[in-house]
Amino acid sequence: SFRRADRLRGIELSEIVQISEQAARLKAQGVDVVALSTGEPDFPTPEHVIKAAHQAALAGQTRYPATAGVPDLRAAIAEDAGVQSQNVIVSTGAKQVLSGALMATLDPGDEVITAAPFWTSYADMVRLSGGIPVVLDCPVSQGFKLTPAQLEAAITPRTRWLLLNTPANPTGAVYTESEIQALGRVLDRHPNVWVISDEIYQHLTYVPFTPFVQAVPHLADRVLTVNGVSKAYSMTGWRIGWGIGPSPLIKAMIAVQGQITSGACSIAQAAALAAITGPQTLLGERLQAMRARRDLVVAGLNAAGLECAVPDGAFYVFPKTPAEMPVDHEFCRYLLDEVGVALVPGRAFGLPGHLRLSFAYATESLQEGLRRISVATARLK
Ligand code: PLP
Repeated sequence: SFRRADRLRGIELSEIVQISEQAARLKAQGVDVVALSTGEPDFPTPEHVIKAAHQAALAGQTRYPATAGVPDLRAAIAEDAGVQSQNVIVSTGAKQVLSGALMATLDPGDEVITAAPFWTSYADMVRLSGGIPVVLDCPVSQGFKLTPAQLEAAITPRTRWLLLNTPANPTGAVYTESEIQALGRVLDRHPNVWVISDEIYQHLTYVPFTPFVQAVPHLADRVLTVNGVSKAYSMTGWRIGWGIGPSPLIKAMIAVQGQITSGACSIAQAAALAAITGPQTLLGERLQAMRARRDLVVAGLNAAGLECAVPDGAFYVFPKTPAEMPVDHEFCRYLLDEVGVALVPGRAFGLPGHLRLSFAYATESLQEGLRRISVATARLK
């Protein structure tokens, strides 16, 4: 009979994906569902990007690309970051960058520190690579951010990585320059701890954004910065992300990637090159649209009795569950059954008692979702 590997113990399809797929199934059956569960901008991929992909395919860029990424794209990413191409790996989404880095570095029992709430995949990626996620609770009272004291207390001789996300999914928390520097002072005392800074929401920030490595340049030889085109350029389906870091790490990640997927899709890499080197005005336009949605959603949720902080980045809010139904997954089920709204329970991100709502949706969907949520919370009173 079928037997799963031990390293898959407790690992299932992410709850976000499960909920989004369930909402899609209900919709297909004709049920009227407003899904606000997926972390994917509703904007289309820019036309000049799609044209670049067409041209690349017609020009014969259809063969195995270099394992580390096509030279032009690697060079463009390196130039932007002020590093060399050997400091860059292009992968099949930021997801593969993260999992590749962990696979390339973790031995069984190695520890990875991360702040909860965290993006669902972090803990399972660490487990799949044989590591142990060390999850530190960062409640709303501390702005959902890791403090230097928490970091200091969690470091052990087995700690390999601090895995940080700024701006964060699911809270929108953004670390300021001085907050990064304060974490940096802890890391100064622990030279064996490296940092993964997942900055995939860099271009979706409503306050000034400081890249981790820019705040603590003296730590650059142990920081891997993760980024990609998915969120900024509405290119989730193209699956292109990248890592920027010290060349020995990048080399190890290339070795892993070479055995698992080879280089990322050549046509998608041509599209990503067009996205990052083409006109950037759309980033600002889309950010303004997101900011208006954010303000709409924060006001609407608070009015509906769901206490909600204003996020500084990304396109999520992470309100508390209502006092009348504090268990997050029960409240999510109630919302889906009663008023046909799909949200994700906080437990999927390691912090129960909250909900994640993505506002990367058209304003009309957000307005309808908020209307239904307020009907549902009023019924609980
Ligand atoms: N990192 C974070 C924090 C995310 O929220 C996501 C997507 O939801 C990713 C990485 C994955 O990005 P990609 O589409 O490039 O794999």
